[in-house]
Amino acid sequence: MIADFLDAAAPERLSADACVVGGGPAGITLALRLARYGFRTVLLESGGRAQEGDDQEAVHALSAGASTGQGGADPGYCRLRRLGGSTGHWQGWCGRLDAQDFAPRSWLDGSGWPVGGDEITQYYPEAESLCELEPLQPTPTAAWLAWERFWRFSPPTRFGTRYAKDLSETSQVTVLVHATMTSLDCDGASIRGVHFANLAGRSGHVQARVVVLATGGMENARLLLQPVAGHPRGIGNRYDQVGRYFMQHIELPVARLLAADPQGVAAQFDTFGRQRRHLVLSREASEARRLLRCAFSVSSERELSGAYLAARRIWGEVREGRWPEDLDTSVEAVFSDLGGLIEGMRGAQILSQRLNAYAEQAPDPASRVTLVDERDPFGLRRLRVDWRLSEQDFRSIRSATLAMAEWLGQHGIGRLQIVDWLTCETPSWPEHIWGGCHHMGTTRMSTDARSGVVDADQRVHGMENLFVAGSSVFPTGGYVPPTLTIVALSLRLADHLKGVLS
Ligand SMILES: Cc1cc2nc3c(=O)[nH]c(=O)nc-3n(C[C@H](O)[C@H](O)[C@H](O)COP(=O)(O)OP(=O)(O)OC[C@H]3O[C@@H](n4cnc5c(N)ncnc54)[C@H](O)[C@@H]3O)c2cc1C
Repeated sequence: MIADFLDAAAPERLSADACVVGGGPAGITLALRLARYGFRTVLLESGGRAQEGDDQEAVHALSAGASTGQGGADPGYCRLRRLGGSTGHWQGWCGRLDAQDFAPRSWLDGSGWPVGGDEITQYYPEAESLCELEPLQPTPTAAWLAWERFWRFSPPTRFGTRYAKDLSETSQVTVLVHATMTSLDCDGASIRGVHFANLAGRSGHVQARVVVLATGGMENARLLLQPVAGHPRGIGNRYDQVGRYFMQHIELPVARLLAADPQGVAAQFDTFGRQRRHLVLSREASEARRLLRCAFSVSSERELSGAYLAARRIWGEVREGRWPEDLDTSVEAVFSDLGGLIEGMRGAQILSQRLNAYAEQAPDPASRVTLVDERDPFGLRRLRVDWRLSEQDFRSIRSATLAMAEWLGQHGIGRLQIVDWLTCETPSWPEHIWGGCHHMGTTRMSTDARSGVVDADQRVHGMENLFVAGSSVFPTGGYVPPTLTIVALSLRLADHLKGVLS
C-alpha cells in the first residue's frame, strides 16, 4: 500500500518488523525484499510519489546546505526528494566493483572492505535485473584494446515509478510518502522506532524491531549526527567517525587525443546500444604504480547538423517515454536538411577528441560532512559539505594519464595533450569537478567503531537494531558508479535482516 501522509486518512501510529527510512533504490529494494520474506515493513519517504514531478520545492529545500570545499558537492543540488530518490534523474550508468576494489591495498589507507567481495558480488546478477540491464553484447574490438571494461546503461530505471505497482500491491509493505523522519526514538543502544512529520504540521511514529536509514550518501550521516538524548555527538559517533571520508568519483577530461585515425578510435568508444567501452590499466600496471582505480573513455566532438541534433533529441525523449517538446519545430528541422541528417548518422567529421577520466578518490577523514547551526523546518540541523581532494588523488590521476599516454603512443593510436592543471608539479584542481553525484563513505563499513560507523552487516557500531543502507557505507568507491552496488548491498542486507528478525 502507498499512502500519502498529507491525506488525513493516513495513519499516524504504525508498528512493523522493519522501518526503512528513505524511498530511493536502496530503500525500495530493501523494503520489497523484506516484505517478500514475510516481514511487515514500513517505508517512510520524505517526498511525494514519483509522478508528482518536480513541484515539491519546499520538500526539496529540506536537503539544502552549505558547500565549503572543492566545488562540485553542493548538498542542495543533485538529490531528489521523492519516491525513487535520485533515480528520478540518474543517468543509469552501471558497473560492478571487482576483486581489486574489495581487497586491501598497501598504498591506500582505509582500503579493504571488512566483508569478502564474493559476499557482495553474488548479488550483482539480481541487482542488474532490478536495474533492468541487458546482457553485454559482443562488440567489435580493435587489436590494440588490451585493457577494456564495459559499463552498461540502465534504461534508466526510475525506481519510484518502476516499482510503484509492486509497492502498492505487496500487502506486507506500507509506504508513507510526505513523511520525513525527524528523529530516531532511541533508548540507549536500542532504537524503539522513528518519529516522522510533514510540512503541514502533522506528525507520527513507527514502532519497529529494526530501523534502516536509506536516505542517501549525505543524509544518512546528517540524520545520525543530530544529537539525541544519550548520544550528544550523534548516534554511532562516539569516535567522531560519522560524516568523515566523504568521497565522490572524480570525473573530468584529462587530455586532448591527437589520434592517427580519429574515426577508428571513435568507432571503439561511441556508445553501443546500452553499453559503453572504457579503458582501464591492467592490475599489474596499476599496482606497480600504486594507483587508485581509474578508467578512461574517449569522447568525440563532431560537426553535427541541426537536422541530426533535432532527430537525436526526438529519439532521446521518446526513449525516456516522454512526448518530445517543440515536436513541430524539431520535425521541421529534420526534414529541412536530410543530407545533414544522413551525414550525421554516418558519423560526421570529428572536430576534436578528449580523453576523460573516471577516478576513485582516496578515503580521507578530512573530507567530510558536518552540521551547521541553521535548522530546517523540522528543527534538524542542516549540512555543510567540505569535499576535499588529496595529493594522492592528484598524483594518481596524473600517473594513470601518463601511463595511458605511453600505452596509446606505443600502439600507434595517437598522442595525448594533457590538460595544463594536470601537468603542474603542485596539485591544483579545476574550480568545479563533476563528482557524478555519487556520495559515498560518510558512514563507512569498518571492523570497529574507531575506524568507521557500521559493521560488515551494516549495523551501526554500538547499536542493537539500527542499520544503514546505501553508498555511505562504502569504505572505498572504485571508479564505477555506485547504484548497482547500492542495490546489491540492499539485497544482502535483506538476507541478513531475515536472520535477525526470524
Ligand atoms: C544527475 C544524477 C545522475 C546520476 N547518474 C548516476 C549514474 O549514471 N549511475 C549511478 O550509479 N548513479 C548515478 N547517480 C547517483 C544515484 O542517483 C544514487 O547513487 C542513488 O540514487 C542513491 O540511492 P539511495 O537510495 O541510497 O539514495 P537516494 O536516491 O538519494 O534516495 C534517498 C531517499 O531518501 C529520502 N529521504 C531523505 N531524507 C529523508 C528523511 N529524513 N525521511 C524520509 N525520507 C528521506 C529522499 O527523499 C530520497 O527519496 C546520479 C545522481 C544524479 C543526481
